[in-house]
Amino acid sequence: LSKRLFSKNVIFSPSQDIVIPECTVTEWIYSKMEPFNKYTAVECVDTGKKYTFEQVRRKAGNLSKALRKNWNLEPGDVVAIYMSNSPDFFVACLGILEAELIITTINHMYKADEISKQLTDSFAKVIITQPQNFSEVKKAFQQNKNDLPIISVKNKENDSLPEGCINFEELINTTLDFSIGITRKAEDLAFLPYSSGTTGVPKGVEITQRNIVAMGIQTIHPDYKMMEPPTDNHQDMVPGILPMYHIYGFMMLQLNCLTTGMRLLSFPKFTPQLFISVLRNYNISMMYIVPPIVLFLTNHPEVKTEDLQSLRFVLSGAAPLGILDEKKFKQKVGHAFHMVQGYGATEATGMVTSLGNKKLFDKLDKYQGSSGPPIPSTRIKVVKIEDQTGTPLGPGETGEILIKGPQLMRGYLDKPEETRKVFLDGWYRSGDIGYYNSEGLLYVTDRLKEIIKVKGLQVAPAELEEIIRDFPSVEDAAVIGVPHPLFGEVPRAYIVEKHGATLKPEEINKFVAEKVAKHKHLVGGVEIVDSIPKNPSGKILRKELRQEYDKKSFDG
Ligand code: AMP
Repeated sequence: LSKRLFSKNVIFSPSQDIVIPECTVTEWIYSKMEPFNKYTAVECVDTGKKYTFEQVRRKAGNLSKALRKNWNLEPGDVVAIYMSNSPDFFVACLGILEAELIITTINHMYKADEISKQLTDSFAKVIITQPQNFSEVKKAFQQNKNDLPIISVKNKENDSLPEGCINFEELINTTLDFSIGITRKAEDLAFLPYSSGTTGVPKGVEITQRNIVAMGIQTIHPDYKMMEPPTDNHQDMVPGILPMYHIYGFMMLQLNCLTTGMRLLSFPKFTPQLFISVLRNYNISMMYIVPPIVLFLTNHPEVKTEDLQSLRFVLSGAAPLGILDEKKFKQKVGHAFHMVQGYGATEATGMVTSLGNKKLFDKLDKYQGSSGPPIPSTRIKVVKIEDQTGTPLGPGETGEILIKGPQLMRGYLDKPEETRKVFLDGWYRSGDIGYYNSEGLLYVTDRLKEIIKVKGLQVAPAELEEIIRDFPSVEDAAVIGVPHPLFGEVPRAYIVEKHGATLKPEEINKFVAEKVAKHKHLVGGVEIVDSIPKNPSGKILRKELRQEYDKKSFDG
C-alpha cells in the first residue's frame, strides 16, 4: 500500500465511498439483472432444476401478487422461509420482497422447538418450506398452538405435496390480476435473520432495504468485482454450498449472483461426492466458502488439482482461517488465483472487511492471516475491552472491534435494551477482538462474545443451556466452545446434577440432539461437575471453563 488506511486511529477502505440510491432491494436487483435475462441464474446440482434470470424475475412477480392477494398480507408483514438451498429459494426471497413483505430465514435443519421460537418472535404470517420439513413445521405449530398457511416447494416435478400444503409451483406460475404499488422506502425493513450477537439467545436482526442495497453496492464495487458478465461463451460458476438462510449465503450467493450474472449451482445438501462431481463437471471460477470447506478441498484425496483449474477467486469468511491452512490450499490449487479472507457479521448485513480489493492484490501473500481493510464506506476502530468512551487504540494494540457503515442493522427486533447495549455513538460493538497493523489492515484474533462458531454457523451457549436445564435431573449447566480440527469449534457442556441424581452424559447428548439442529449437538462432550464458575452477579465465567479445558487437553 502506498498510504496508510487509517487516520486518527480509525481505519477505512482503500476505495472511495459508495453512493446508495434511494430505492428498494427489488428495484435495485431487477435493474442489475435485466441484461442477463436469457442466461441461467440458478441450477440445482442434484435435480437439474434451473431458472434463467428472466424466469426468476417473472416467477417472483407472480409469487408477490399471490402472497398479497391470497392471504391479505400487508406491507411489513413477515414471511418465513424454512428450506434448503434451491432455485426456488431465489424466487421466494425476491417474491417476498417485491410484495413489500419481510423475509425471515430459518435454518432448514432446525427442529420444531427452534422453528417455533423464531416464528413466534418474528410474528411470521406464512411459512414457505419443502416436503421433508413439513412434519417439523406441524410440530412447531402444535407447540405454538397456531396454524399458519404452509406453502411448499417441490423437490422434483412429480412430487406429491403433503396434505394441507399450498403448492408453491402453482403460485409462481400463475399471473394474478393484482397490483401491489410501491409504498416501501429505503429505511423500511427487508430481512430478519437471527443472530445471538454478543450474548443471550438468537434475536431478530433488523436489516433494512437500504442495508441490503448498500451491501450489494459495496461488494460489487469496481475494486472488488472479480466476476465477469455472462456471454454466450462464458459464465462464471459459483457452487452454492453456503446456506442461503445465513447472511453470508444470502448476500454472496443470492444478491451477488443476481446482480452480476454469475450462475449459482445450488446444493440442497452438502455431500463430498456431490461437491466433487460438481467440481469435475462445471468450470468453477468463484467460491464463497468457510474454513471447513477450504480444509475439505485441501485434504480430500479425491479432490484433485485438475478439479480446481478454473478457479480465479476464493473468499473465505464467517470464521478464522489459519495461515498454514491457506498456504496448503494454495499449493493444492497449484495455479495463480486470488485467495482472500473476509470478516463480517449478520448485524452488518454480511461483510465488514475483505482482502478482496484489487489494490491489494500484488501483496496478498504478505497480508495472509489478515481479514483486510474495511469495504467501501465502512470504518473500524479498536477500543480497550469494556471501554465506554469509544477512544480508539493505535496500530498493533489489541481490543474490541467497533464498526460503522451503511450496512449496520437498525437494531434487534423488539429488543431496545439489547440494541442499546451493542451500539456506542452509532458504532456497533462486534464482540470480536483484534488489532490493525501499521498499514491499516484488520486481524481478528479472538472473541469476547460467547457465541460458538461451528462450521461458520452460530451456536448460542445460552440457548443450549436453557434446553439442558430443562432436563429433569439437571441443576445447572454451562456451555462453551472447544476447538475441533474440522469444524473450527464445537459445543461442550458442563452440568451440575440435582442432589441424589445420577446422570449419564449420553442422556444429555440425546436430549439436546432431539431438540436442535445438528451443528448445535454437544460434539465437544458433556462433563458432570460440582459447580459452574460464576461471578458475583451470576454470570457464567466461560473463560475459566475454557482455560481449564485447554489446560487439561494440553496436559493430556
Ligand atoms: P455471523 O453473524 O453468524 O456471520 O457471525 C459473525 C461472527 O463470526 C463475527 O462476529 C466473528 O466472531 C466471526 N467471524 C466472521 N468472519 C470472521 C473471520 N474472518 N475471522 C474470525 N472470525 C470471523
